[in-house]
Amino acid sequence: MSNVQLPESYIRQITALLGAEQTEKFLRSYEEPRAYGLRFNPLKTGSAKESAGTLKEAFSLSPIPWCETGYYYEHDAKPGKHPLYAAGLYYIQEPSAMSAAERLDAQPGETILDFAAAPGGKTTHIAGQLRGEGLLIANEIHPARAKILSENVERAGISNAVVTNGAPHELSSRFPGFFDRIMLDAPCSGEGMFRKDADAIAEWSPQHVDYCAQRQADILEHAAIMLKPGGTLVYSTCTFNREENEETIEQFIAKHPSFRLEATERLWPHLVQGEGHFVAVLRQSESAEMSAQGSERAVGKASKKRDRGKKPGGASTAAQQLTAFNEFANKSLPRFVLGAGEPVLFGDALYWLPHDGEQRFGAAQLDGLKVARAGLHLGDLRKNRFEPAHALAMAVRPEQADWVQNYSADAPEIAAYLRGETLAAADAQSGWGLVTADGYPLGWAKASGGQLKNHLPKGLRRHL
Ligand code: SAM
Repeated sequence: MSNVQLPESYIRQITALLGAEQTEKFLRSYEEPRAYGLRFNPLKTGSAKESAGTLKEAFSLSPIPWCETGYYYEHDAKPGKHPLYAAGLYYIQEPSAMSAAERLDAQPGETILDFAAAPGGKTTHIAGQLRGEGLLIANEIHPARAKILSENVERAGISNAVVTNGAPHELSSRFPGFFDRIMLDAPCSGEGMFRKDADAIAEWSPQHVDYCAQRQADILEHAAIMLKPGGTLVYSTCTFNREENEETIEQFIAKHPSFRLEATERLWPHLVQGEGHFVAVLRQSESAEMSAQGSERAVGKASKKRDRGKKPGGASTAAQQLTAFNEFANKSLPRFVLGAGEPVLFGDALYWLPHDGEQRFGAAQLDGLKVARAGLHLGDLRKNRFEPAHALAMAVRPEQADWVQNYSADAPEIAAYLRGETLAAADAQSGWGLVTADGYPLGWAKASGGQLKNHLPKGLRRHL
């Protein structure tokens, strides 16, 4: 990108931050090709190193130093077009953006909020750290982006995430003092996007930086309400100016003395292979007082707001649907066990809503909030027959299924399955089973009369 026209005031701002010598190197980085990254999904693969070994040659992989599961790939490798991408084996993510969730360091069993989550880079990273244990709420304010986030959560096979589509105040009013850790990857002026996206340059101005800093301060206030005493808040941006980074954090701490800054990290595009990122790790003291709104009050308030968003159905209907799911699972997923949670119905769609470890979270907490994915989508009742959801195929392990039809990822049958075509079945097969590529589930198929009827959702079918 050698013709980058950077605003004069932006160059002045960078010079003030870096000094003349470093600024020259920084500006020269705009002439260099950008780095591309992917992150392996621990929910799918026991070891990123092993998966990287298999795909090393195909994608020319090399490790990203600050992320154990992250690898650079050669741009021409196009990993987004590989069948194992459809299987959720990895997520494509800008390399420096991988630093933020590494710093969050979520532990299995914890309750985590990813506050500004779409398209899902940090969400999928955090879900891998949780290893299916605990509760992850991934929130995105913009509906269309929440939908993309939800699709990425599905492909990654995440069973313990709830995707919400709320504004910051809609979450803070119902989850005070609730989360062990909060990731706030804040909307920002995107200076680290300039090499990737010329529109980001056109949108940039000192006024836009001020506007973003104000918005970040507002969102941080809501994050502070929702953190448990002793909890960790990670704030990150993909921008370089101090106003949206160090200054936002300094002002936040001045207002909230119960928070301590544990670390900051800046990844610069002229010093590392990546577009650049800022990360701040904050910890709230154990003795911090809970916000004035106690949990019970907030939940009470939430349950009065009954008129907006998708509504879960009554518990008894969900329980009836669960019987249909159990019948399905007894035959087709005999070795699959649901985690702690409860059944929730949206229309004909049955979800398994994960609970948090302390039993403070259930369907009541979602009442009135727009929900894009209420946990693991188990399936739908169609013409009185239970049809398993694609999300379920992505979340189970092959050995839990009644039968699996496996092919090598480069086999013509896999390309045919991804196009939505019927495959040939082995004689003994009947009912629902999984089609897998190199052992990783791609979706459901239903066997009868020597054929496998393709149940890959139409919207996911594609020509490789
Ligand atoms: N964490 C995401 C990832 O890793 O894929 C990227 C998040 S992006 C940097 C910031 C997000 O904040 C955007 O999806 C944007 O829609 C959202 N956002 C914009 N305005 C917001 C607001 N006022 N409150 C909360 N989120 C907002």
